[in-house]
Amino acid sequence: MRFYIKTFGCQMNERDSEKVEAILFENNWQQVENPEDADLIIVNSCAVREKAENKLYSELGRLKFINPKAKIVAMGCVAQINYEKLKHIADIVIGTNTIDRFYDIARDKSKNGVFILDKMTDPDHIFPHTSRISAFVDIMYGCNNFCSYCIVPYTRGREISRNKDAIIEEIKQLIDKGTKEVMLLGQNVNSFENSKNYRFVDLLYDINKLDGLKRIRFTTSHPKDFSKELALAIRDLDKLCEHLHLPFQSGSDRILKLMKRGYTKEQYLSKALMYREIVKEGSITTDIIVGFPSETQQDFLQTVEVLKTVEFETSFSFKYSKRPLTRAANMDNQVDEEEKLKRLNYLQKLQADITQKKLKAYEGKTIEVLVEGQSKKHNGFSGRCRQNIVVNLEFRDNITEGKIANVVITKALKHSLVGKVQGQ
Ligand code: SF4
Repeated sequence: MRFYIKTFGCQMNERDSEKVEAILFENNWQQVENPEDADLIIVNSCAVREKAENKLYSELGRLKFINPKAKIVAMGCVAQINYEKLKHIADIVIGTNTIDRFYDIARDKSKNGVFILDKMTDPDHIFPHTSRISAFVDIMYGCNNFCSYCIVPYTRGREISRNKDAIIEEIKQLIDKGTKEVMLLGQNVNSFENSKNYRFVDLLYDINKLDGLKRIRFTTSHPKDFSKELALAIRDLDKLCEHLHLPFQSGSDRILKLMKRGYTKEQYLSKALMYREIVKEGSITTDIIVGFPSETQQDFLQTVEVLKTVEFETSFSFKYSKRPLTRAANMDNQVDEEEKLKRLNYLQKLQADITQKKLKAYEGKTIEVLVEGQSKKHNGFSGRCRQNIVVNLEFRDNITEGKIANVVITKALKHSLVGKVQGQ
């Protein structure tokens, strides 16, 4: 039997799709690149923006048209909240908490229906992986923050931390299969907690002790919970990479309050600058929303100021998108689309200049790169440095996947670096 899978959205969704692939592989299914060749078509959906949600509906229609014989599965965040609508379009609807249903689907090809639960039955279950060199590992699920624009607490439920023993066992299994780097995933990793005496930093210290593992990364940190203790762990733990993703969303205190983010611009800046001070070689990236309801030009300029002050290596900026169930969807003074686009373009141009300056500063330096494999865009191998920047390697000699190499940077591109392994 053959399956085709398409994934929209974030790293959590990428990991969920990987779980599905691995379950199907274990049951001798074959993955195909062309949906016309598939017996089972799976679309993993994202609900964070309206555009992404609409893409799901058009994609399902397109796939059904080109392969009417295949069974269609809609899974992910849209499936979790819009299963009533999707059950008329797809044969199977699987929510974010019922991925384990794929064990049944893999074996019983006649299975149809809607599988939605509010809560995961076993968050400590160790799902299989297909990745090798670098692997995603869930450390917690869900979010309790209810930022006023965000649909995630509705699509992924309330926070549940996995048990540290399950996490460490999963990582040990990955190391045995050749994994060198783990990316610890959670909507708000700083909230990870097994007990009052065992929190996220304790988990990092324990993972850092695992033999055979070379690197640890994590995402995402919420600014209100980011602590000096975590910055010190990034500085002191040899395997923990010097990269922090710390979404600030807006630089205006008024907008941050409406967003229910739980910090002010000054508090954000003091944490970001504290990180810069403690982790000297560290990089920092962020997420920004422009055009949140009632955002004025003055509010927007506060956002610009944060960008200029922190000089993020990269930022991911988006126009505010109305999401059902969220408080912001009903707020007055929604910002005109044209104005949102103008602000977004301004911000992205500014960020492109900052990114270019940051990348240029690497030219001539020697940095540590974990070789991940064939580059998607360039001819040759590529990997990432500890600061999470993609590095494309000029020569292939003496390079193997999974190797940690010292690389001399020869050139900065728009979003990545080019270099050659030292001594070549
Ligand atoms: S912290 Fe806020 S933005 Fe992030 S997932 Fe939770 S509710 Fe959404």
